Amino acid sequence: MSAQPPTAQGDPAARAAALREQLARYNHEYYVLDAPSVPDAVFDQVLRALQDLEAAHPELITPDSPTQRVGAAPAAGFASVPHAVPMLSLSNAFSDDEVLGFDRRVREALGPLLADDEPVAYTAELKYDGLAVSLRYERGVLALAATRGDGASGENVTANLRTVRAVPLRLRGSAVPELLEVRGEVLMYKADFERLNLGQRQAGEREFVNPRNAAAGALRQLDPAVTARRPLRFLAYGLGELRGAPEPATHAELLDWLRELGLPVGAERELLHGPQALLGFYRRMQARRAELPYDIDGVVYKVNRREWHERIGYVARAPRFALAHKFPAEEAVTELLDIEIQVGRTGSLTPVARLRPVFVGGTTVSNATLHNEDEIRRKDLLIGDAVVVRRAGDVIPEVARALVEQRPPADSPSFAARWRRFVMPTQCPVCGSAAVREEGEAAWRCVAGLSCPAQRKQALLHFAQRRAMDIEGLGEKLVDQLVEAGLVQSPADLYRLDAAQLAGLDRMGEKSAGNLLAAIEASRRPTLARLLFALGIRHVGEEVARQLAGAYPDLPALMAAPWPEIQARKAEIQKENARRRPRGEPLLPVPLEGIGPEIIDSLQRFLAEPHNREAIAQLLAAGVEPQPGGQFAQDGAAIPAAAAGPLAGLSFVITGTLPTLAREAAAERIRAAGGTVSGSVSRKTRFLVAGEAAGSKLARAVELGVPVLDEAALLAMIESPQAPGASESSP
Ligand code: NAD
Repeated sequence: MSAQPPTAQGDPAARAAALREQLARYNHEYYVLDAPSVPDAVFDQVLRALQDLEAAHPELITPDSPTQRVGAAPAAGFASVPHAVPMLSLSNAFSDDEVLGFDRRVREALGPLLADDEPVAYTAELKYDGLAVSLRYERGVLALAATRGDGASGENVTANLRTVRAVPLRLRGSAVPELLEVRGEVLMYKADFERLNLGQRQAGEREFVNPRNAAAGALRQLDPAVTARRPLRFLAYGLGELRGAPEPATHAELLDWLRELGLPVGAERELLHGPQALLGFYRRMQARRAELPYDIDGVVYKVNRREWHERIGYVARAPRFALAHKFPAEEAVTELLDIEIQVGRTGSLTPVARLRPVFVGGTTVSNATLHNEDEIRRKDLLIGDAVVVRRAGDVIPEVARALVEQRPPADSPSFAARWRRFVMPTQCPVCGSAAVREEGEAAWRCVAGLSCPAQRKQALLHFAQRRAMDIEGLGEKLVDQLVEAGLVQSPADLYRLDAAQLAGLDRMGEKSAGNLLAAIEASRRPTLARLLFALGIRHVGEEVARQLAGAYPDLPALMAAPWPEIQARKAEIQKENARRRPRGEPLLPVPLEGIGPEIIDSLQRFLAEPHNREAIAQLLAAGVEPQPGGQFAQDGAAIPAAAAGPLAGLSFVITGTLPTLAREAAAERIRAAGGTVSGSVSRKTRFLVAGEAAGSKLARAVELGVPVLDEAALLAMIESPQAPGASESSP
């Protein structure tokens, strides 16, 4: 693929020239246009290839080689500023061995300054994924801000940097130096980035690829008013010129001093001894990467004693006393080999990308969901494309975009040989029944329902899952076999299985058969909420199931509920409440408050279907006994039990990683205190509980003016005898 480093052997001089040309183009796209065409990993790989080639053939090194210089020349439009102290890049390491090699070279350079058994002291910091700037303070006042540019001179972005709140316009304290040049990173926090992109989306404008790109674009705006509207931050990590104050002896002291002067410095920094400690820091930070409020692409190690820096020295574009230890790339380029269809539980046909296996975000990825046909069109994906695959943290891998510029013209023979447009099938690929796309829906669906084996299997898997009936051991392979052998048609059949039937299945020993039967047996007395959820009714998720179970004593009552009347009464009460609210009169309780018309429709349709009623009757006949919950009103309309507790009547949404509670545990605490928890933020949400790395939900809450709590505030509310707002009849 042309995005990969050329592997052709051939003439080293010609290869070096080709690699340089490729890198020059990437640099221009990245630094000048703020629009990279390939992921960083590809750039790094090509740079590595050139470095290796130049190491083997030093006579090929030219002064203008990208291995000898950083960044790109300042863009026209900004005044150019020379850097009194050059702004360098960092050497990269991608493996433990390279880190050991770095430490070894540092020790060699220090020679007799270090005792044989004395480990080198390093400061370890995070490698912020933004862009470098230099801030010049004259007598404590911000006088000049410049980008790194090509390291020797950068762009004057003072007016823009002055709009960044995290950058002090004046240093703190009385002992400010006569001149201080601070080096640091301008970046955008993840939550701010999500919010910015939400705004772009709503305004119908182009979204930014990632926070780094958005930050770079914002910083290099010719109009500072635009920069001011973009949420930029700054973190300091180094020193340029200094006059009128003694240089701190160590890097750790420098960072502390910068902080005292009022400059923001990252909290995650440690003083460590020897390379093994560095590797430990790397792994700790890698584990915490997703929860940090900003993107990092690795960690940085710097020899702590600053007076040793000159002695250790520099290579062409980077100091030898510092090292960037990078995380495995979260993005990689591979080929979209095909698009296949998966049939889901409700019959939805989901297109799935089959990819040439690629190592990304720490695992090998060979397929990724493409969600629906609109998504494929929006991303303009063709089968045969070179695509960027992204896998960040534990998030499922996604196809981020196609490298459209690598496609040959559509009328060329090479295009015809590899590229093709995906067409959504109009038939279910599993059972051959018709597939339809209903109005207002993104997905095509197979109309066959449970007579489609794919849907039957998915329905059984859903039924058996931990959060539903919790039948341990009933996984995909087993469900496939049970359905294909004709042993199980509907969930009730599970409760009629016996050891003899199971014995005939592939790889089913006596012990596993016994375990499975025991797990099925143990699932016979679920809560009503679990059983309702397990039935797989469209739009009835766990929370809705829980509310229904709280409102009806048992299944027959729920099945007999007069849905049209409930709907009508609900509408009436809501109208009455709308009349009362402005007058401050007490509001009437609304039956099935959190359950909207779409859900009731779906429920009604499901329960009206004879086939489904039969399946439920069979489950009860097979000995499944749901355990009741909640109260029931005389007239058939459910009135939720007036929940007690400090959070009664309050609805919450939880997002991000909370410091001590897992999300589900926090939800349990809220429910136990009488509150409800839902999955998405709407006008009805009373509070959003947000942890680290909160994203679009936080942005939505801010947009709607929903108050945001942290975990501590939530716990305080739960523990308070009367939570704020809990007494309001309508939050
Ligand atoms: P680099 O980003 O790998 O490392 C140097 C930079 O790290 C410094 O300039 C500074 O901005 C930053 N940094 C962050 N935290 C720091 C800390 N705690 N201490 C010191 N410095 C810190 O090197 P580079 O030369 O800026 O390389 C540019 C990056 O841009 C690479 O990741 C490369 O992949 C990418 N790039 C991509 C393309 C592309 O086309 N995709 C093109 C050019 C460059």
